[in-house]
Amino acid sequence: MLAEPRHDESADASTARPRVDYFYDEGIGNYEYGRHHPMRPHRVRMTHHLVVNYGLYKQMNIFRPKPAAYGDLTTFHSDEYINFLRTVTPENMEEPNFRSVLERFNICDDCPIFDGLYEYCQAYTGGSIGGAARINQGCSDIVINWAGGLHHAKRGEASGFCYTNDIVLAILELLKVHARVLYIDIDIHHGDGVEEAFYLTNRVLTLSFHASHDTSGTSFFPRTGHINDTGGKAGKNYSVNFPMFAGVDDVAYESIFKPVIRKIMEKFQPSVVVFCCGADSLSGDRVGCWNLSIKGHAAVLEFVKTFNLPMLVLGGGGYSIRNVARCWCYETSRLLGTPIADQLPWHEFMDYYLPDYKLHVPVSNMRNENTPEQLEARLQKVLENLSQIECAPNVQMHHAPNALDPGADSEEDEEEAINADRRRARGRRPHMAEYFDDDETVADRMISGRMGLDSEDIGEMLSCGCVDECECRPPNPFVASLRANGR
Ligand SMILES: [Zn+2]
Repeated sequence: MLAEPRHDESADASTARPRVDYFYDEGIGNYEYGRHHPMRPHRVRMTHHLVVNYGLYKQMNIFRPKPAAYGDLTTFHSDEYINFLRTVTPENMEEPNFRSVLERFNICDDCPIFDGLYEYCQAYTGGSIGGAARINQGCSDIVINWAGGLHHAKRGEASGFCYTNDIVLAILELLKVHARVLYIDIDIHHGDGVEEAFYLTNRVLTLSFHASHDTSGTSFFPRTGHINDTGGKAGKNYSVNFPMFAGVDDVAYESIFKPVIRKIMEKFQPSVVVFCCGADSLSGDRVGCWNLSIKGHAAVLEFVKTFNLPMLVLGGGGYSIRNVARCWCYETSRLLGTPIADQLPWHEFMDYYLPDYKLHVPVSNMRNENTPEQLEARLQKVLENLSQIECAPNVQMHHAPNALDPGADSEEDEEEAINADRRRARGRRPHMAEYFDDDETVADRMISGRMGLDSEDIGEMLSCGCVDECECRPPNPFVASLRANGR
């Protein structure tokens, strides 16, 4: 008999004191994707300084992550790709042996080779895997790793500022102990890398809320996450996508988020939650096009917390870095159940928060391009799909791939078999990069990157990003074949 998650929506967050672990590598802020690159690991250091100066660190176990080892990373990623990441440098990347594979591994302007790239991957991934291990050991109720959440990385390919997929690796770790893992992604981009890894299994339910188009109507990176992409084979209806147009505000978001979560908790009954808290869904983000306040962003995280399941809370995107730091610090406080003042404590990065030095900032007056009717229609469709899944499938536990144990029976492992299926079907993907001026006040977006499909595009969860079925997207061969076979 499976126990229902203990849901206490009315719980006073200020009195509930979970055991919280916090992973932080003090070197993380020194990595630089490039001078004009919008992804800045420094934002994690800024978050940390707020966390420390608000005194929140006193209520958490602070860990410096153990760098993810080669064997950890190749639990999901291909040996060839990880070998490449650990040997390529800005100095040698033009040598013939590296140059010949740059395109295959999707090394480009938004996924550049920079100094310390492999160590960076080891640090942010090590935090997520280490956090999952803490949860598995029953040592912690909530683990935070703001440096993690790089949800676009594929098995053998960088994508969307992500190189190694710490989320997939953390979930694989959790599957060693947990029968069912719920993955929730509130980054404004579709969590394509995580969805793809678990598209065919019913042990991981992936739920992504994301933008389908930006304010100009352009399909939003990574152009996947169609509402009708729901999983395949045993995983049918265990991939949940909720795309929305620009301008999503707090009220609209909460109105669709809560019913979906309640339904998943009722039907899927996960024993652990992994949460990607990408902050590019905040109002005013340099890349995003939504209008969430920091409190609205945190409210959905807090709602999930009321189900009293162990949670691994990760970062993700977020490109107006002062707001990312505000948001993740505030969310740290909400996870701890500790109120913090709106006036920021003095610290060395204070100048970022000029002129008011406040934690909370107003949202913009942008229009919400999602009508209540559209949202309700999408909500009903998602709930209908979820009602199709078997209530808490009786999963037979077995060993998940064990990167630390070379003798693990990975050949017989379900996840490995699933990944093998996916590998055979995978290939190159169309890529759309988004670049921004280094000046955060200038939202001069350029869309560039390789367009179009080629014969190797099979296997991607490609969709046009449209909310409803439409004719404007080329068929995704992998999804199309699953549909044709009635899966
Ligand atoms: Zn994002």
